[in-house]
Amino acid sequence: MPKAVGARKPAPSKSVADTRRIMAKLEGQHPNADTELHFSTPYELLVATILSAQCTDERVNQVTPALFKRYPNAASLAKATTTELEPQIQSTGFFRAKSRSLLGMASEVVERHGGEIPRTMEELVELPGVGRKTANVVLGHALGVPGLPVDRHVLRVANRIGIARSDDPVIVEQQLCNAMPPADWTRTSDTLILHGRRICKPRPLCDKCAVTAECDYYRTVMGVVAKRRKKTGAKPRASSAKSRPQARKARSRPRN
Ligand code: SF4
Repeated sequence: MPKAVGARKPAPSKSVADTRRIMAKLEGQHPNADTELHFSTPYELLVATILSAQCTDERVNQVTPALFKRYPNAASLAKATTTELEPQIQSTGFFRAKSRSLLGMASEVVERHGGEIPRTMEELVELPGVGRKTANVVLGHALGVPGLPVDRHVLRVANRIGIARSDDPVIVEQQLCNAMPPADWTRTSDTLILHGRRICKPRPLCDKCAVTAECDYYRTVMGVVAKRRKKTGAKPRASSAKSRPQARKARSRPRN
């Protein structure tokens, strides 16, 4: 009887050396990549990150100054009620759920961690409203603990280039962490997020990208376009518009 062989996880197409070289180029293109959320303490970043779900950082930054003034720490937030909190965060969307998460998080931080934001992934994800992505944001940006948050931008950009291969954020996080040194994890995430926001958007601006020569998506899509042109004799059209039909086909499916 042959031994059963478990399904192998798909590996990224790029080697560790390729990934580090590609990330160096992207960091050169986005030298100041960092979280755009405003904060001064781990508590403030945790609150801001919970509020940023399905909301822009810009909108969150409009809401948080007054919120942090009224509730400067977990102890003060834990004493608030949903009736008080909801109007203050309404503009960030999903305000009822976010309000429950914030109050639950603050209460647990007070009861189980003496009012201090915990410093480990295991403890952070036990808090209400805190998933792996949020925990990694706080670890990497506010607590000095290496963390690589994977959001929809990281998922899309990393898969397109070929430095990761999966629709699962946890697997993509593992693949990127395996390729990059821990000291670079947070910057890697910040850089991929910024690249996804500015250049490698759902409809990518490949003509402005620093890594076209290394990008699997670019090679595949542009290869198809070039072959069709050769066959039909069609002339190239301007910029990103030339790859739109193929881009829609080949685009990875980021989770929103
Ligand atoms: S070449 Fe295009 S698809 Fe590839 S990373 Fe750059 S913008 Fe994204």
